[in-house]
Amino acid sequence: MARISLFFSMMLAGLAVGGSQACQAQTQTTAPTAAPAPVVLEFASSGDAAFDSWRAGFAQRAVAAGRNPAMVQSMLAGLRPDPRIVSQDQNQAEFVRPVWDYINRAVTPEKISQGAALRAQHAQLFTAVERRFGVDADIIAGIWGVETNFGAFPLAYDAPQALATLAADGRRRGQFETYLLALMEMAERGFAGPEQMKSSWAGALGQPQFMPDVYLTTAVDWDGDGKKDIWTNQGDVFASIANYLASRGWKRSEPVYDEVFLPQDFDYALADGTSRPVSQWVGLGVRSTSGFDYSAPIQAMSAQLYLPAGAKGPALILFPNFGVIRTYNPSDRYAMTVSLLARGFEGGSGLVKPWPTEIGSLQREELFELQAALNKLGYSAGTPDGMFGNNTRSAVRRYQQAEGMPADGYPTPALLTRIQNKVTGIDRAAAQRSAATLRTATSIRELQRALIRLSRLRGAADGEMGPATERAIESFERSIRLEPTGRATTFILAEAKKAVSQLPPPRRAKKRRRR
Ligand code: CA
Repeated sequence: MARISLFFSMMLAGLAVGGSQACQAQTQTTAPTAAPAPVVLEFASSGDAAFDSWRAGFAQRAVAAGRNPAMVQSMLAGLRPDPRIVSQDQNQAEFVRPVWDYINRAVTPEKISQGAALRAQHAQLFTAVERRFGVDADIIAGIWGVETNFGAFPLAYDAPQALATLAADGRRRGQFETYLLALMEMAERGFAGPEQMKSSWAGALGQPQFMPDVYLTTAVDWDGDGKKDIWTNQGDVFASIANYLASRGWKRSEPVYDEVFLPQDFDYALADGTSRPVSQWVGLGVRSTSGFDYSAPIQAMSAQLYLPAGAKGPALILFPNFGVIRTYNPSDRYAMTVSLLARGFEGGSGLVKPWPTEIGSLQREELFELQAALNKLGYSAGTPDGMFGNNTRSAVRRYQQAEGMPADGYPTPALLTRIQNKVTGIDRAAAQRSAATLRTATSIRELQRALIRLSRLRGAADGEMGPATERAIESFERSIRLEPTGRATTFILAEAKKAVSQLPPPRRAKKRRRR
């Protein structure tokens, strides 16, 4: 009845040898009872103690979860962690490409013409899949193109090794153990043999790059040959992608996005991810750049306004189908890439408004600093993690609103500097307020000397506070952006000495003295 793959049969044959030894050992030590003997799986060391320890524990959990011990043994034996995968995983988290770099690398004229040619080559198949699942064929082709470059991308990793490495690494252990269990189930049910175990570094399978759990629930046997072949069968690949989107709420014949113009005095804070009826956006002065017809059925749809690069960049109206693409990969730029490719395959044009590349973008480390600074100013961005999520976006927006800036929630290097200066200003003002007043003639004289060097005070350093010294302190306070208080404090003394140390070398001063 069940199709037993070659992989599975080989694995069973392999286990029979080791298994018989285990049985012999048990018959010698265990009294015969009706209860089944506990399964003990043993693995030769991978050379990595942490990995070995994770594997021993996971093997138990896998058997307890109902996986065939023979399969567990077969899939986990001989595995060792792949350091390339861990470093890929970490790099991905640390490097953030600006949105325009990401889009411009992914949506190229070559990629669009390649996709359009493949759309034509498989036209009948695409049309049939589109009709059955109600999902736009160009979107299916867009995902296919982004995931594996239309099936051409070499999958250079071993799925069990990739998933085991990431599970053992521990940051998302539960998630990757779930994937491994699903992969074991795929093998047990004969869906995948060794040829199908090639994956991306993250363990994603086949041309649609399904994780194993998604494969089990979503892959489709389009041509009815009994296999859900997302590796080599074009119909199974397209239908599986379509089924994924359909099962996550794709609406037949609804648009994905439209680029729009915003009126001059537009309130950018409205681009905060809130869905509003299209009629409301139109009422706010939002206009299609392409002449897209916002007629009655469209007016009633709810849509979000999206500013991928802030107020100075393109503005997009996103319809619910855009959100469905995001379920494939929870990233706005991913969904935008797929949508722009799909538009290109149809012969449509790209974005009208150029990217404002001059405003720059922030790296993880800087995002971390931004979050810390926002928190310090009372705009809660959550625990700093270097990720630009909704809390941070909202905190940036609230800061911008308070400062009377366009509240687009987009973090630039200039904004980071501005926020950090504000934090520093607040810290320094507090330091000056709470600093001890200078009491001794020696310390006052030291401050006066510094103020003379800084050209804030004329005359001699007499070690006594008077109106001239107070005015000099006020002038210096203003020069370092503090409220003038005229108070001689330990803080002001330290700041003045620091400012002196930053003066140009005293060569010029000597010359001047000689004159
Ligand atoms: Ca098939």
